[in-house]
Amino acid sequence: MDSVKQLRFDVAVVGAGPAGIAAALAAADSGKTIGLIDDNPAAGGQIWRGAHNSAQPSASSIWFDRLNKSAVQTVRGTRVFHAAQGELTAESDDSATQISYGKLILATGARELFLPFPGWTLPNVMGAGGLQALAKSGLDISGKRIVIAGTGPLLLAVAAYARQCGAKVVAICEQTTRPLMARFALKMTLVPGKAAEAVRLAYNLRGIPHWTDCWPVAAFGNRRLESVRISRQGQTSEIECDYLACGFHLIPNIELPRMCGCRLENGFVEVDEYQQTSIAGTFCAGEPTGIGGLELALVAGEIAGYAATNWEDRARHLFSKRARYQKVVRILQDAFPLRPELKNLARPDTLVCRCEDVSHQQLREHSSWRGAKLHARCGMGPCQGRVCAPAAQFLFGWEIDSVRPPLFPVRCSSLAAIPSHSAPRN
Ligand SMILES: Cc1cc2nc3c(=O)[nH]c(=O)nc-3n(C[C@H](O)[C@H](O)[C@H](O)COP(=O)(O)OP(=O)(O)OC[C@H]3O[C@@H](n4cnc5c(N)ncnc54)[C@H](O)[C@@H]3O)c2cc1C
Repeated sequence: MDSVKQLRFDVAVVGAGPAGIAAALAAADSGKTIGLIDDNPAAGGQIWRGAHNSAQPSASSIWFDRLNKSAVQTVRGTRVFHAAQGELTAESDDSATQISYGKLILATGARELFLPFPGWTLPNVMGAGGLQALAKSGLDISGKRIVIAGTGPLLLAVAAYARQCGAKVVAICEQTTRPLMARFALKMTLVPGKAAEAVRLAYNLRGIPHWTDCWPVAAFGNRRLESVRISRQGQTSEIECDYLACGFHLIPNIELPRMCGCRLENGFVEVDEYQQTSIAGTFCAGEPTGIGGLELALVAGEIAGYAATNWEDRARHLFSKRARYQKVVRILQDAFPLRPELKNLARPDTLVCRCEDVSHQQLREHSSWRGAKLHARCGMGPCQGRVCAPAAQFLFGWEIDSVRPPLFPVRCSSLAAIPSHSAPRN
């Protein structure tokens, strides 16, 4: 059996993205022991993935520098898969770890929403952020023809990054309407710091076709993607490409907060003004509380860190700054609602659960997520429903009503490391 490590922190922070880093640093000011746990090999989360290696100074450098100089203990490559009664159980490549804590801050971030369409499982069709993450990890995309599709501002960030890597971005296909996109651009310029960012982005994207009312209908190829058929303002056309990077905005990673018993509101973790959840002593910051971007994640993380270490006055100082960035949550919600046509893309034989090969037709025979799981094994594979559950929620209107341990597939020896007194909860 693998060894079981034991760790104890006054404050444990799960997730080392911007929200988690800011929370850990704020909490560290108190002199208490702070643990920052993340499943990636390095801190940074989604937006700062790979940035710690970069020679070029960026907004992230200041945070990495502070983190390196702080007393925060970073626990890398370690994925928390169970939580109960004040204890977390996590797994890394070589061991399981039991983590106990006084206070807990959950900063588990978000992931992309994928919607099924014919051909979406072909090699080289991938998430927009997924392609960016691969490129940041070394995938050579220079000279490749890339279509970027779906919805949300991430498409623009990915297009700019892909171009910077030498890729030829053939088109950005945004499903929202032109008026909503225009209103989004206008409102974002009123958020502090965003006008300059928008100008920079527009410059970096110059010349790339950016089509609204446009989405992928099908992807084609023999062994891998060769072309994508798109619908654009009611007309379909086919575009040859090497990659289709496709994501329909972000959804919060709420599985761990849910397992901790935190109450949700409209699909997000409910928090008070100090970022405390419905469970006393458990805080949450960043995307699980609302998709609002980097600046909101940072300031909410700081508030959580101070509040968790009883520095309410320092936390209160940041309330007005947070309020300025909280507007972004609403702006994004209003700008990128998913259009009903996207529910009709999948054909009967299109896979919805790609881990367990469950087709759209098989799912239509059921009336709830639970029924689909029990009878068709939908969501029972390695991703544990992370991809297909939100898709099924959108396609069929099902409520995803439970989260079960382990949160991720783990070794039997890691399951044995769950403390016997912390019984699994639904
Ligand atoms: C794929 C992707 C790409 C993005 N790219 C950009 C971009 O280029 N530009 C931009 O402006 N915004 C981007 N965003 C949005 C950006 O991530 C957010 O705006 C914001 O920075 C989120 O910060 P966060 O700390 O809340 O979450 P994240 O940065 O997502 O950090 C959360 C961290 O928690 C870890 N984690 C989650 N659950 C566990 C667990 N159980 N155990 C251990 N670790 C766990 C995750 O691996 C991750 O490292 C992207 C988002 C996604 C999903």
